[in-house]
Amino acid sequence: MRKSLGVAVALFASLTGVLVPASPAQATGILAGKVIGIDPGHNGRNYTDPSFLNQQVWNGREWENCDTTGTQTRGGYTEHAFNWAIANYLAQQLIRAGAKVVWTRTSDTGIGPCVDRRARLLNYGHPNLSIDIHADGGPTTGRGFAILLPVADGPNNGVIKGSLHFAYYLRSRMVGMAGMPVSTYDGVNGFAYRSDLAGLNLTTQPKVLIECGNMRNSTDASLLGSKTWQLKAANAMVSAIVKTLVG
Ligand code: ZN
Repeated sequence: MRKSLGVAVALFASLTGVLVPASPAQATGILAGKVIGIDPGHNGRNYTDPSFLNQQVWNGREWENCDTTGTQTRGGYTEHAFNWAIANYLAQQLIRAGAKVVWTRTSDTGIGPCVDRRARLLNYGHPNLSIDIHADGGPTTGRGFAILLPVADGPNNGVIKGSLHFAYYLRSRMVGMAGMPVSTYDGVNGFAYRSDLAGLNLTTQPKVLIECGNMRNSTDASLLGSKTWQLKAANAMVSAIVKTLVG
């Protein structure tokens, strides 16, 4: 955890569900009345409990591991810390714009929750839109971000269209505002349809999972590790959320 995020950590420390805007002024922002779900992938102490991570959870189509430790850059910057940083910047901006935020974990120093529980935690909060935040551990020569999209499976049937709608805006802003290219190795033109992930199979609200870049690629890694870029990425996400929900 970076020092600059101390305030955010304190702010979210007592959170288990919906974060309410702190003042009436904020409730009049462009996202007033909207609820956004944020799932920062993995967690800081996942590596300490392999048996917890290896427990099998039902993802709507098949059994999968509860979670993983996530990836990291060659320099040792971990994906869980990156996900947590982006999530905090994003949440701060959303709250400033008047939104409420539903959160799947309250620190970067815990274990879990499992991916099926993360999906349910967001469903319980009835967000208008949700985003699962990750970074990939791809081939070292591969660059760019990929947006993972749900495939209709029953519970998520009603959110396929809304998720794709959000994905289009998110893709354009990640390229235009954050300057990250679409993935050269994952999906097609930045989109990958995935039927093997609990977060997308179990969602009852429009949701995408974004792999913000490739931590194993040195060009991407230097962007992903930069606070300036992280703020740009959070801005891009906010812009896409506003465009999707407000127009
Ligand atoms: Zn991940």
